[in-house]
Amino acid sequence: MLSTSGHTPSELQQSIDAKLQPRSQALPDTVVEMRSANEEQHRAVSLNAVGLLEGSDPVLKSETVLLTAHYDHLGVQNGRVYRGANDNASGTVAVMELARMFAQSPARPKRSLLFVVFGSEEEIMLGSFYYTAHPLRPLAGTRAVVNLDMIARDEAHIPQSEGAIEIPADTSNLIELVGTYYSPDLLAVIEREDRAIGLRLDHILERDHILNTLFRCDHLPFLEAGIPAMWLFGGFHPGYHEPSDTVESLNFPKMEKVIKLAYGTALAIANAPAGPRFGPAARAAR
Ligand SMILES: [Zn+2]
Repeated sequence: MLSTSGHTPSELQQSIDAKLQPRSQALPDTVVEMRSANEEQHRAVSLNAVGLLEGSDPVLKSETVLLTAHYDHLGVQNGRVYRGANDNASGTVAVMELARMFAQSPARPKRSLLFVVFGSEEEIMLGSFYYTAHPLRPLAGTRAVVNLDMIARDEAHIPQSEGAIEIPADTSNLIELVGTYYSPDLLAVIEREDRAIGLRLDHILERDHILNTLFRCDHLPFLEAGIPAMWLFGGFHPGYHEPSDTVESLNFPKMEKVIKLAYGTALAIANAPAGPRFGPAARAAR
């Protein structure tokens, strides 16, 4: 492949070693073809689980607000159990609790609520991408998505975030919003609802280009479909995707606040005259 470079591979290597600089150059009349194949692959069935609470308004009940979380994690690897207490038992419990709260409330929301727990989020969000490809409720009438993932730990640096983002000293009452950049209307609703809850809503990870947080959770397929969607996220922390993600480390008071905030936000959207708008036009109109 390097025959047209005028140098042998060892010459190039020595040059790189001597100067500790890249030794890039164009290779004339050279075409490179690369093929890759997975060394290992297996097929498995993955399920999304859903529950519908039909809205009370004869017209608006055809529209839907989604409350979502993923329930899968990393399983057992090399004999080590990955419990995933924060990622994402916390969000799964939250969606189940939200379903219970809404079902028990005598005042039923006008729009319908769909509670969804996705499988295979840890496999590049296959569950949520499957949902938007095969929606149970029309995407055109899906007004908003409130996604809960890792809501019960306090954000702190992991090796990949050191130097990339600034994290406040006290994150015990902090929750990151990811995705609201694409719907200022949705942001306005959650900010209004938070006045009664008092969480610190932050945007450190909204547009970070190092951790690429926007692309790492189940709100993403909905944003790609043009639906206002946000991820309520307690932030990364030591123990992320490690066996040490266990129940003892959860911040339950924070988790309770996040669930109440998700409840108020979903309720407000479900009863509002119009749903939040999506996209640049909505940004300009604010
Ligand atoms: Zn997760």
